[in-house]
Amino acid sequence: MTTAIYWFRNDLRLEDNPSFLQACKSADHLLPVYIHQTNLEQDTAWGFPRMGEHRRVFLDQTLQELRGQLRELGSDLYEVTGDVLHVFEKLKSQIQADLIYCEQIQAPEELEQVALLSAAGFKIHSRWQSSMLDAHSLPFALEEMPDIFTQFRQQVEKRGLRFSVPVDSPKSIPSLPAIEIPSIKAFNSNISSSIGNFFGGEQSAHMHIRQYFERGLPDTYKQTRNELIGMDYSSKFSPWLAQGCCSAGCIAKQLADYEFCYGANDGTYWLWFELLWRDYFRFLHFKYGKRLYNSKGLSRVSSNQFDGENFYQWSSGATGESLIDAGMRELKKTGYLSNRMRQIVASYWIYDMKGDWQAGSAWFEYQLIDYDVYSNQGNWLYIAGKGTDPRGGRPFNVAKQTQDYDRDGIYRQMWLT
Ligand SMILES: Cc1cc2nc3c(=O)[nH]c(=O)nc-3n(C[C@H](O)[C@H](O)[C@H](O)COP(=O)(O)OP(=O)(O)OC[C@H]3O[C@@H](n4cnc5c(N)ncnc54)[C@H](O)[C@@H]3O)c2cc1C
Repeated sequence: MTTAIYWFRNDLRLEDNPSFLQACKSADHLLPVYIHQTNLEQDTAWGFPRMGEHRRVFLDQTLQELRGQLRELGSDLYEVTGDVLHVFEKLKSQIQADLIYCEQIQAPEELEQVALLSAAGFKIHSRWQSSMLDAHSLPFALEEMPDIFTQFRQQVEKRGLRFSVPVDSPKSIPSLPAIEIPSIKAFNSNISSSIGNFFGGEQSAHMHIRQYFERGLPDTYKQTRNELIGMDYSSKFSPWLAQGCCSAGCIAKQLADYEFCYGANDGTYWLWFELLWRDYFRFLHFKYGKRLYNSKGLSRVSSNQFDGENFYQWSSGATGESLIDAGMRELKKTGYLSNRMRQIVASYWIYDMKGDWQAGSAWFEYQLIDYDVYSNQGNWLYIAGKGTDPRGGRPFNVAKQTQDYDRDGIYRQMWLT
Protein backbone atom coordinates (compact mmCIF):
# COMPACT_ATOMS: atom_id res chain seq x y z
CA MET A 1 0.00 0.00 0.00
CA THR A 2 1.47 3.37 -1.03
CA THR A 3 0.79 6.39 1.12
CA ALA A 4 1.68 9.66 -0.54
CA ILE A 5 1.34 13.37 0.06
CA TYR A 6 0.11 15.85 -2.48
CA TRP A 7 1.70 19.20 -1.78
CA PHE A 8 -0.48 21.96 -3.24
CA ARG A 9 1.71 24.95 -4.11
CA ASN A 10 0.62 27.49 -6.76
CA ASP A 11 -1.74 24.97 -8.35
CA LEU A 12 -4.83 25.28 -6.16
CA ARG A 13 -7.25 23.47 -8.45
CA LEU A 14 -8.43 20.01 -9.42
CA GLU A 15 -9.02 20.59 -13.14
CA ASP A 16 -6.02 20.49 -15.45
CA ASN A 17 -3.68 19.57 -12.65
CA PRO A 18 -1.64 16.70 -14.16
CA SER A 19 0.54 16.42 -11.08
CA PHE A 20 -2.44 15.92 -8.76
CA LEU A 21 -4.02 13.51 -11.25
CA GLN A 22 -0.84 11.46 -11.29
CA ALA A 23 -0.78 11.34 -7.48
CA CYS A 24 -4.42 10.20 -7.47
CA LYS A 25 -3.65 7.42 -9.94
CA SER A 26 -0.50 6.24 -8.18
CA ALA A 27 -1.22 6.25 -4.44
CA ASP A 28 -3.43 4.03 -2.31
CA HIS A 29 -3.74 6.69 0.38
CA LEU A 30 -3.21 10.35 -0.35
CA LEU A 31 -2.94 13.33 1.97
CA PRO A 32 -3.51 16.70 0.22
CA VAL A 33 -1.45 19.33 2.06
CA TYR A 34 -1.16 23.10 1.95
CA ILE A 35 1.56 24.86 3.94
CA HIS A 36 1.36 28.52 4.89
CA GLN A 37 5.06 29.20 4.98
CA THR A 38 6.12 31.09 8.09
CA ASN A 39 8.91 32.88 6.23
CA LEU A 40 6.34 34.69 4.07
CA GLU A 41 4.86 36.32 7.16
CA GLN A 42 8.14 37.59 8.57
CA ASP A 43 9.58 40.97 7.68
CA THR A 44 12.15 41.00 4.90
CA ALA A 45 15.30 43.15 4.86
CA TRP A 46 13.11 45.95 3.49
CA GLY A 47 10.99 46.03 6.65
CA PHE A 48 7.75 44.47 5.41
CA PRO A 49 6.55 40.89 4.91
CA ARG A 50 6.28 38.94 1.67
CA MET A 51 2.53 38.46 1.56
CA GLY A 52 0.06 41.25 2.25
CA GLU A 53 -3.58 41.04 3.21
CA HIS A 54 -5.13 41.17 -0.26
CA ARG A 55 -3.35 38.05 -1.40
CA ARG A 56 -3.86 36.36 1.93
CA VAL A 57 -7.63 36.91 1.82
CA PHE A 58 -7.79 35.65 -1.77
CA LEU A 59 -5.67 32.65 -0.82
CA ASP A 60 -7.93 31.78 2.11
CA GLN A 61 -11.00 31.92 -0.13
CA THR A 62 -9.21 29.68 -2.60
CA LEU A 63 -8.22 27.14 0.03
CA GLN A 64 -11.72 27.08 1.43
CA GLU A 65 -13.10 26.24 -1.99
CA LEU A 66 -10.42 23.65 -2.64
CA ARG A 67 -11.16 21.99 0.70
CA GLY A 68 -14.84 21.80 -0.25
CA GLN A 69 -14.02 20.20 -3.61
CA LEU A 70 -11.72 17.66 -1.96
CA ARG A 71 -14.36 16.82 0.64
CA GLU A 72 -16.94 16.22 -2.06
CA LEU A 73 -14.63 13.51 -3.36
CA GLY A 74 -14.20 12.00 0.10
CA SER A 75 -10.83 13.61 0.83
CA ASP A 76 -9.80 16.76 2.72
CA LEU A 77 -7.10 19.41 2.94
CA TYR A 78 -4.42 19.26 5.61
CA GLU A 79 -3.71 22.97 6.02
CA VAL A 80 -0.90 24.01 8.34
CA THR A 81 1.45 26.87 9.04
CA GLY A 82 5.16 26.16 9.37
CA ASP A 83 8.47 25.52 7.74
CA VAL A 84 8.16 23.17 4.75
CA LEU A 85 10.81 20.63 5.78
CA HIS A 86 9.63 20.63 9.37
CA VAL A 87 5.99 20.03 8.36
CA PHE A 88 6.89 17.12 6.09
CA GLU A 89 9.27 15.57 8.66
CA LYS A 90 6.43 15.60 11.17
CA LEU A 91 3.96 14.13 8.69
CA LYS A 92 6.45 11.43 7.77
CA SER A 93 6.57 10.25 11.34
CA GLN A 94 2.77 10.40 11.64
CA ILE A 95 1.69 8.66 8.44
CA GLN A 96 4.92 7.01 7.26
CA ALA A 97 4.87 8.85 3.94
CA ASP A 98 8.06 9.92 2.26
CA LEU A 99 6.59 10.22 -1.21
CA ILE A 100 5.54 13.74 -2.22
CA TYR A 101 3.87 14.80 -5.45
CA CYS A 102 3.81 18.50 -6.34
CA GLU A 103 4.06 20.98 -9.15
CA GLN A 104 7.52 22.14 -10.12
CA ILE A 105 8.32 25.77 -9.40
CA GLN A 106 11.47 26.85 -11.19
CA ALA A 107 12.39 29.78 -8.94
CA PRO A 108 15.44 29.57 -6.64
CA GLU A 109 13.72 29.47 -3.25
CA GLU A 110 11.17 26.92 -4.34
CA LEU A 111 13.84 24.73 -5.95
CA GLU A 112 15.81 24.94 -2.74
CA GLN A 113 12.81 23.67 -0.76
CA VAL A 114 12.60 20.61 -2.98
CA ALA A 115 16.36 20.07 -2.79
CA LEU A 116 16.19 20.15 1.02
CA LEU A 117 13.35 17.64 1.04
CA SER A 118 15.27 15.32 -1.29
CA ALA A 119 18.37 15.62 0.87
CA ALA A 120 16.24 14.66 3.87
CA GLY A 121 15.25 11.44 2.13
CA PHE A 122 11.87 12.35 0.62
CA LYS A 123 11.05 11.07 -2.85
CA ILE A 124 9.73 14.01 -4.81
CA HIS A 125 7.68 13.75 -7.98
CA SER A 126 7.54 17.33 -9.15
CA ARG A 127 6.04 18.20 -12.48
CA TRP A 128 6.26 21.34 -14.59
CA GLN A 129 2.70 22.44 -15.35
CA SER A 130 2.28 26.18 -14.87
CA SER A 131 2.93 27.32 -18.44
CA MET A 132 0.39 27.63 -21.23
CA LEU A 133 2.67 25.72 -23.60
CA ASP A 134 4.02 22.27 -22.98
CA ALA A 135 7.70 22.85 -22.24
CA HIS A 136 8.59 19.61 -24.06
CA SER A 137 6.98 20.71 -27.30
CA LEU A 138 9.09 23.85 -27.68
CA PRO A 139 11.33 23.96 -30.76
CA PHE A 140 14.45 24.56 -28.62
CA ALA A 141 15.98 23.28 -25.41
CA LEU A 142 14.95 25.61 -22.58
CA GLU A 143 18.58 26.31 -21.72
CA GLU A 144 18.99 27.61 -25.25
CA MET A 145 15.75 29.52 -25.64
CA PRO A 146 15.98 32.81 -27.53
CA ASP A 147 16.66 35.73 -25.20
CA ILE A 148 14.52 38.13 -27.16
CA PHE A 149 10.77 37.77 -26.75
CA THR A 150 10.01 38.37 -30.45
CA GLN A 151 12.35 35.58 -31.50
CA PHE A 152 10.87 33.29 -28.86
CA ARG A 153 7.33 34.08 -30.07
CA GLN A 154 8.23 33.63 -33.75
CA GLN A 155 9.71 30.19 -33.12
CA VAL A 156 6.67 29.17 -31.07
CA GLU A 157 4.32 30.38 -33.80
CA LYS A 158 6.33 28.72 -36.55
CA ARG A 159 5.94 25.42 -34.70
CA GLY A 160 2.17 26.11 -34.52
CA LEU A 161 2.05 25.90 -30.72
CA ARG A 162 -0.97 27.42 -28.99
CA PHE A 163 -1.47 25.66 -25.63
CA SER A 164 -1.11 22.29 -23.97
CA VAL A 165 -4.39 20.39 -23.89
CA PRO A 166 -5.94 20.47 -20.39
CA VAL A 167 -6.48 17.23 -18.47
CA ASP A 168 -9.69 16.38 -16.59
CA SER A 169 -10.18 16.56 -12.84
CA PRO A 170 -9.70 13.24 -11.04
CA LYS A 171 -12.93 11.25 -10.79
CA SER A 172 -11.91 9.95 -7.38
CA ILE A 173 -9.21 10.63 -4.83
CA PRO A 174 -7.43 7.92 -2.83
CA SER A 175 -8.63 7.73 0.75
CA LEU A 176 -6.90 9.73 3.45
CA PRO A 177 -4.29 8.07 5.64
CA ALA A 178 -5.18 7.84 9.33
CA ILE A 179 -4.47 11.35 10.58
CA GLU A 180 -6.42 14.09 12.26
CA ILE A 181 -7.06 17.02 9.93
CA PRO A 182 -6.36 20.24 11.83
CA SER A 183 -9.24 22.67 12.15
CA ILE A 184 -8.77 25.92 10.28
CA LYS A 185 -8.08 29.16 12.09
CA ALA A 186 -9.81 31.92 10.16
CA PHE A 187 -7.50 34.65 8.95
CA ASN A 188 -8.59 37.98 10.42
CA SER A 189 -8.69 40.80 7.96
CA ASN A 190 -10.43 44.11 7.70
CA ILE A 191 -10.18 44.01 3.95
CA SER A 192 -13.43 43.60 2.09
CA SER A 193 -13.23 40.53 -0.09
CA SER A 194 -15.25 42.31 -2.75
CA ILE A 195 -12.54 44.83 -3.56
CA GLY A 196 -11.88 44.55 -7.26
CA ASN A 197 -14.43 41.73 -7.54
CA PHE A 198 -11.70 39.17 -6.96
CA PHE A 199 -12.88 36.14 -5.06
CA GLY A 200 -10.48 33.24 -4.75
CA GLY A 201 -11.16 29.68 -5.84
CA GLU A 202 -11.43 27.41 -8.85
CA GLN A 203 -15.17 27.87 -9.37
CA SER A 204 -14.88 31.63 -9.04
CA ALA A 205 -12.07 31.54 -11.59
CA HIS A 206 -14.23 29.67 -14.07
CA MET A 207 -17.18 32.00 -13.46
CA HIS A 208 -14.97 35.01 -14.10
CA ILE A 209 -13.44 33.52 -17.24
CA ARG A 210 -16.83 32.45 -18.58
CA GLN A 211 -18.38 35.89 -18.20
CA TYR A 212 -15.32 37.45 -19.85
CA PHE A 213 -15.81 35.32 -22.95
CA GLU A 214 -19.62 35.47 -22.91
CA ARG A 215 -19.50 39.25 -22.98
CA GLY A 216 -17.21 39.19 -26.01
CA LEU A 217 -14.50 41.15 -24.19
CA PRO A 218 -11.57 39.46 -25.98
CA ASP A 219 -12.63 41.27 -29.16
CA THR A 220 -11.81 44.67 -27.70
CA TYR A 221 -8.87 43.56 -25.56
CA LYS A 222 -6.18 45.03 -27.78
CA GLN A 223 -7.80 48.48 -27.84
CA THR A 224 -8.61 48.64 -24.13
CA ARG A 225 -5.73 46.82 -22.44
CA ASN A 226 -3.81 49.98 -21.58
CA GLU A 227 -6.70 51.71 -19.87
CA LEU A 228 -6.59 52.32 -16.14
CA ILE A 229 -10.12 52.15 -14.74
CA GLY A 230 -12.58 49.28 -14.30
CA MET A 231 -12.77 45.50 -14.51
CA ASP A 232 -13.23 45.13 -18.28
CA TYR A 233 -10.30 46.88 -19.96
CA SER A 234 -8.15 43.79 -19.40
CA SER A 235 -9.03 40.21 -18.56
CA LYS A 236 -8.22 40.29 -14.80
CA PHE A 237 -7.32 36.60 -15.06
CA SER A 238 -4.08 37.22 -13.15
CA PRO A 239 -5.11 36.63 -9.49
CA TRP A 240 -6.60 33.23 -10.35
CA LEU A 241 -3.69 32.31 -12.60
CA ALA A 242 -1.18 33.25 -9.92
CA GLN A 243 -2.69 30.92 -7.31
CA GLY A 244 -3.32 28.29 -9.94
CA CYS A 245 -7.12 28.38 -9.49
CA CYS A 246 -7.18 27.85 -13.24
CA SER A 247 -4.44 26.88 -15.64
CA ALA A 248 -3.14 29.01 -18.49
CA GLY A 249 -3.83 26.03 -20.77
CA CYS A 250 -7.53 26.06 -19.79
CA ILE A 251 -7.81 29.76 -20.56
CA ALA A 252 -6.00 29.40 -23.87
CA LYS A 253 -8.26 26.49 -24.81
CA GLN A 254 -11.34 28.61 -24.11
CA LEU A 255 -9.80 31.36 -26.19
CA ALA A 256 -9.29 28.92 -29.08
CA ASP A 257 -12.91 27.71 -28.72
CA TYR A 258 -14.05 31.32 -28.73
CA GLU A 259 -12.09 31.99 -31.92
CA PHE A 260 -13.57 28.87 -33.48
CA CYS A 261 -17.12 30.10 -32.76
CA TYR A 262 -16.81 33.83 -33.33
CA GLY A 263 -13.64 34.24 -35.36
CA ALA A 264 -10.12 35.29 -34.47
CA ASN A 265 -9.23 38.97 -34.41
CA ASP A 266 -6.55 41.33 -33.11
CA GLY A 267 -8.03 41.21 -29.63
CA THR A 268 -8.08 37.43 -29.30
CA TYR A 269 -4.56 37.19 -30.72
CA TRP A 270 -3.28 39.81 -28.31
CA LEU A 271 -4.71 38.04 -25.30
CA TRP A 272 -2.80 34.91 -26.31
CA PHE A 273 0.27 37.08 -26.98
CA GLU A 274 0.18 38.39 -23.38
CA LEU A 275 -0.23 34.89 -22.00
CA LEU A 276 2.85 34.03 -24.03
CA TRP A 277 4.78 36.76 -22.16
CA ARG A 278 3.80 34.91 -19.01
CA ASP A 279 5.33 31.72 -20.42
CA TYR A 280 8.41 33.56 -21.64
CA PHE A 281 9.26 34.84 -18.13
CA ARG A 282 8.70 31.34 -16.78
CA PHE A 283 10.93 29.65 -19.33
CA LEU A 284 13.73 32.21 -18.83
CA HIS A 285 14.08 30.76 -15.34
CA PHE A 286 15.23 27.45 -16.82
CA LYS A 287 17.96 29.25 -18.70
CA TYR A 288 19.18 31.79 -16.18
CA GLY A 289 17.98 30.53 -12.77
CA LYS A 290 19.48 32.35 -9.80
CA ARG A 291 21.15 34.98 -11.98
CA LEU A 292 17.73 36.60 -12.38
CA TYR A 293 17.71 37.22 -8.63
CA ASN A 294 21.01 39.13 -8.35
CA SER A 295 20.94 42.86 -7.98
CA LYS A 296 22.75 43.06 -11.34
CA GLY A 297 20.38 40.60 -12.96
CA LEU A 298 21.93 39.68 -16.30
CA SER A 299 23.62 43.08 -16.62
CA ARG A 300 26.98 44.28 -15.32
CA VAL A 301 25.52 47.05 -13.19
CA SER A 302 24.15 46.68 -9.65
CA SER A 303 20.88 48.22 -8.44
CA ASN A 304 20.72 51.82 -7.28
CA GLN A 305 21.37 52.35 -3.56
CA PHE A 306 18.35 51.90 -1.32
CA ASP A 307 17.08 55.12 0.26
CA GLY A 308 14.45 54.50 2.97
CA GLU A 309 12.93 57.99 2.86
CA ASN A 310 12.47 57.89 -0.91
CA PHE A 311 11.07 54.39 -0.67
CA TYR A 312 8.52 55.49 1.89
CA GLN A 313 7.37 58.31 -0.40
CA TRP A 314 7.05 56.04 -3.40
CA SER A 315 5.41 53.10 -1.66
CA SER A 316 2.89 55.18 0.26
CA GLY A 317 1.93 57.30 -2.75
CA ALA A 318 3.42 60.52 -1.41
CA THR A 319 5.93 61.51 -4.09
CA GLY A 320 4.05 64.63 -5.15
CA GLU A 321 3.81 63.25 -8.72
CA SER A 322 0.06 62.78 -9.01
CA LEU A 323 -0.08 59.86 -11.45
CA ILE A 324 2.48 57.89 -9.44
CA ASP A 325 0.74 58.62 -6.16
CA ALA A 326 -2.61 57.56 -7.59
CA GLY A 327 -1.12 54.28 -8.82
CA MET A 328 0.63 53.46 -5.57
CA ARG A 329 -2.54 54.18 -3.61
CA GLU A 330 -4.63 52.01 -5.91
CA LEU A 331 -2.13 49.19 -5.41
CA LYS A 332 -2.24 49.51 -1.64
CA LYS A 333 -6.02 49.78 -1.48
CA THR A 334 -6.89 46.96 -3.89
CA GLY A 335 -3.81 44.77 -4.37
CA TYR A 336 -4.20 45.25 -8.12
CA LEU A 337 -2.78 47.67 -10.67
CA SER A 338 -3.13 47.77 -14.45
CA ASN A 339 -0.13 46.69 -16.48
CA ARG A 340 0.32 50.26 -17.73
CA MET A 341 0.44 51.68 -14.21
CA ARG A 342 2.78 48.90 -13.05
CA GLN A 343 5.19 49.92 -15.78
CA ILE A 344 4.89 53.63 -15.00
CA VAL A 345 5.37 53.36 -11.22
CA ALA A 346 8.22 50.86 -11.60
CA SER A 347 9.99 53.11 -14.08
CA TYR A 348 9.46 56.15 -11.86
CA TRP A 349 10.99 54.34 -8.89
CA ILE A 350 14.04 53.17 -10.84
CA TYR A 351 14.76 56.13 -13.13
CA ASP A 352 13.22 59.23 -11.54
CA MET A 353 13.75 58.39 -7.88
CA LYS A 354 16.94 56.39 -8.50
CA GLY A 355 15.51 53.59 -6.37
CA ASP A 356 16.67 50.01 -5.93
CA TRP A 357 14.63 47.84 -8.33
CA GLN A 358 14.77 44.92 -5.90
CA ALA A 359 13.02 46.97 -3.21
CA GLY A 360 10.34 47.90 -5.73
CA SER A 361 9.94 44.30 -6.75
CA ALA A 362 9.68 43.25 -3.08
CA TRP A 363 6.98 45.88 -2.49
CA PHE A 364 4.98 44.46 -5.39
CA GLU A 365 5.40 40.97 -3.96
CA TYR A 366 4.00 42.21 -0.68
CA GLN A 367 1.09 44.15 -2.19
CA LEU A 368 -0.05 42.30 -5.29
CA ILE A 369 -3.07 40.03 -5.15
CA ASP A 370 -1.73 38.38 -8.32
CA TYR A 371 1.92 38.12 -7.28
CA ASP A 372 3.65 35.59 -9.48
CA VAL A 373 7.34 35.05 -8.91
CA TYR A 374 8.26 34.70 -12.60
CA SER A 375 6.14 37.58 -13.94
CA ASN A 376 7.11 39.97 -11.19
CA GLN A 377 10.82 39.26 -11.39
CA GLY A 378 10.77 39.23 -15.18
CA ASN A 379 8.93 42.52 -15.55
CA TRP A 380 11.03 44.35 -12.96
CA LEU A 381 14.24 43.13 -14.61
CA TYR A 382 12.87 44.18 -17.97
CA ILE A 383 12.08 47.73 -16.86
CA ALA A 384 15.34 48.03 -14.94
CA GLY A 385 17.29 46.93 -18.03
CA LYS A 386 18.72 43.94 -16.19
CA GLY A 387 16.96 41.19 -18.06
CA THR A 388 17.16 40.04 -21.65
CA ASP A 389 15.73 43.14 -23.34
CA PRO A 390 18.35 44.37 -25.85
CA ARG A 391 17.09 47.94 -25.36
CA GLY A 392 18.56 47.86 -21.85
CA GLY A 393 15.85 49.51 -19.75
CA ARG A 394 12.43 51.04 -20.21
CA PRO A 395 12.16 54.51 -18.70
CA PHE A 396 8.68 56.04 -19.06
CA ASN A 397 8.09 59.77 -19.29
CA VAL A 398 5.48 60.48 -16.62
CA ALA A 399 4.23 63.71 -18.17
CA LYS A 400 3.63 61.95 -21.48
CA GLN A 401 2.02 58.93 -19.80
CA THR A 402 -0.29 61.26 -17.89
CA GLN A 403 -1.30 62.98 -21.12
CA ASP A 404 -1.78 59.70 -22.96
CA TYR A 405 -3.64 57.73 -20.29
CA ASP A 406 -5.19 60.17 -17.82
CA ARG A 407 -5.59 63.40 -19.73
CA ASP A 408 -8.89 64.23 -18.02
CA GLY A 409 -7.53 63.36 -14.55
CA ILE A 410 -10.35 60.95 -13.69
CA TYR A 411 -8.00 58.16 -12.64
CA ARG A 412 -6.00 60.48 -10.38
CA GLN A 413 -9.14 61.91 -8.90
CA MET A 414 -10.35 58.40 -8.07
CA TRP A 415 -7.35 57.55 -5.93
CA LEU A 416 -6.14 60.89 -4.63
CA THR A 417 -9.34 62.27 -3.15
C1 LIG B 1 6.63 45.81 -12.73
C2 LIG B 1 5.62 44.75 -13.09
C3 LIG B 1 5.35 43.72 -12.20
C4 LIG B 1 4.42 42.72 -12.53
N1 LIG B 1 4.15 41.72 -11.62
C5 LIG B 1 3.26 40.75 -11.96
C6 LIG B 1 2.95 39.71 -11.04
O1 LIG B 1 3.50 39.63 -9.93
N2 LIG B 1 2.01 38.79 -11.40
C7 LIG B 1 1.40 38.82 -12.64
O2 LIG B 1 0.56 37.96 -12.93
N3 LIG B 1 1.72 39.77 -13.53
C8 LIG B 1 2.60 40.73 -13.24
N4 LIG B 1 2.88 41.72 -14.15
C9 LIG B 1 2.34 41.60 -15.51
C10 LIG B 1 1.00 42.29 -15.79
O3 LIG B 1 1.02 43.61 -15.33
C11 LIG B 1 -0.17 41.55 -15.16
O4 LIG B 1 -0.13 40.19 -15.50
C12 LIG B 1 -1.51 42.10 -15.65
O5 LIG B 1 -1.59 43.48 -15.40
C13 LIG B 1 -2.63 41.37 -14.95
O6 LIG B 1 -3.88 41.88 -15.32
P1 LIG B 1 -4.79 41.07 -16.33
O7 LIG B 1 -4.96 39.67 -15.89
O8 LIG B 1 -6.01 41.87 -16.54
O9 LIG B 1 -3.89 41.08 -17.64
P2 LIG B 1 -4.28 40.98 -19.17
O10 LIG B 1 -3.77 42.20 -19.83
O11 LIG B 1 -5.68 40.66 -19.36
O12 LIG B 1 -3.38 39.77 -19.69
C14 LIG B 1 -3.83 38.41 -19.67
C15 LIG B 1 -2.82 37.58 -18.91
O13 LIG B 1 -1.58 37.60 -19.60
C16 LIG B 1 -0.51 37.60 -18.67
N5 LIG B 1 0.27 38.83 -18.80
C17 LIG B 1 -0.16 40.02 -19.28
N6 LIG B 1 0.85 40.91 -19.29
C18 LIG B 1 1.93 40.26 -18.81
C19 LIG B 1 3.28 40.64 -18.58
N7 LIG B 1 3.74 41.86 -18.84
N8 LIG B 1 4.11 39.72 -18.05
C20 LIG B 1 3.69 38.48 -17.76
N9 LIG B 1 2.43 38.06 -17.97
C21 LIG B 1 1.56 38.94 -18.49
C22 LIG B 1 -1.13 37.54 -17.29
O14 LIG B 1 -1.18 36.20 -16.87
C23 LIG B 1 -2.53 38.09 -17.52
O15 LIG B 1 -3.46 37.62 -16.58
C24 LIG B 1 3.79 42.75 -13.81
C25 LIG B 1 4.07 43.80 -14.69
C26 LIG B 1 4.96 44.79 -14.33
C27 LIG B 1 5.23 45.90 -15.31
